[in-house]
Amino acid sequence: MTIRSLSDLDVTGRRVLVRVDFNVPFAKGVEPRTISDDGRIRAALPTITRLLDAGAAVILMAHLGRPKGVPAPEFSLEPVAKRLGELLGRDVAYATDVTGPSAQAAVAAIQPGQVVLLENVRFDARETSKVAEERAALAAELATFADAFVSDGFGVVHREQASVTDVARLLPHAAGLLVEAETKVFRKVLDDPDRPYTVVLGGSKVSDKLGVIAHLLTKVDTLVIGGGMCFTFLAAQGHSVGNSLLEVDQIDTVKGFLASAQERGVEVLLPQDIVVADAFAADANTQIVSADSIPDGWLGLDIGPKAIADFNAAIKSSKTVVWNGPMGVFEMAAFADGTKQVALAITEVDGLTVVGGGDSAAAVRMLGIDEAGFTHISTGGGASLEFLEGKTLPGIAVLED
Ligand code: ADP
Ligand code: MG
Repeated sequence: MTIRSLSDLDVTGRRVLVRVDFNVPFAKGVEPRTISDDGRIRAALPTITRLLDAGAAVILMAHLGRPKGVPAPEFSLEPVAKRLGELLGRDVAYATDVTGPSAQAAVAAIQPGQVVLLENVRFDARETSKVAEERAALAAELATFADAFVSDGFGVVHREQASVTDVARLLPHAAGLLVEAETKVFRKVLDDPDRPYTVVLGGSKVSDKLGVIAHLLTKVDTLVIGGGMCFTFLAAQGHSVGNSLLEVDQIDTVKGFLASAQERGVEVLLPQDIVVADAFAADANTQIVSADSIPDGWLGLDIGPKAIADFNAAIKSSKTVVWNGPMGVFEMAAFADGTKQVALAITEVDGLTVVGGGDSAAAVRMLGIDEAGFTHISTGGGASLEFLEGKTLPGIAVLED
């Protein structure tokens, strides 16, 4: 099934309601509220500009944080409207409510080529309601504002929410450029990957990624495991892991993964060596040990140099690489090298490379790695994981007709 794209939608002279992901971080404790990373706003610019250039009037819907269905000044989108105006180089009107008098007035006044941002859609409890009728009621109010709907908030397409799915059922609709690009790349790596195909998984907990591992085991040639989750794998192989992150209740599941990988001929690469520390601290004492002899009392916070060499050889000989989850506690310089070296190896791949996961994308930026070295860095942490789990994303499915 294909999803409708912007070019399938007639927008000239029309009012177009666009769901975007403007859930940006703010600098802690700074007043007035200051956006610390505007990447998500920038990611929405191509679609907004394209619609404005085509002569549409653009009405933007977005959420910020978890305001629990009531207006709260600390979750207001007003600073986002200001930043968007600066990035677009045009005035952005801002409504102080979602579908109330301010939104109605702003929408009534809007002309082709103009933009209005509605206030945080989660200030209305119906947005995230589990009751379909409540969501539909909010969607119906929103739908009166426009002639068409464009879905461009990739970070929310895994959610059944009024501004994501319900409104799409009421208006002619299409995917925005960001949602289209994200969807295309995930479909390619899931349905038609060039081989050899390597998936690199890390991050903190194996339990967060059980669905991803189970699904990808049916697709890949090589599965590389680092990060905190590798210790549950090492434990499943009978090694002791000291004080490293270990999910005892997942050992049996992981044994099952290892057996199923063997059955399918999927190679599983675990780190041969580990950087261990005597405390979870930036200035802890550290040593490099073999993965089968982690000393009692020490904890593994990064993969070692042999593991890096081993992982990178597999990565560089691949035609498709999907990476989700840092190889170590990259937030501390002493444990960042595994993540940095693996990320750099991925940028050298002659093929399609995809970074999924919020912390992995943050690591790329924090470690100063050129983002252009990857084919695609996903903007949606949760949505990208659900894609990799093989799930149907409701916000994508609704665009498929
Ligand atoms: P993503 O958001 O990319 O999916 P996760 O949220 O699963 O990634 O995991 C990111 C976190 O995993 C990071 O904060 C990192 O510090 C942590 N992490 C990586 N390796 C280890 C380790 N060996 N021990 C504890 N935490 C780890
Ligand atoms: Mg994360």
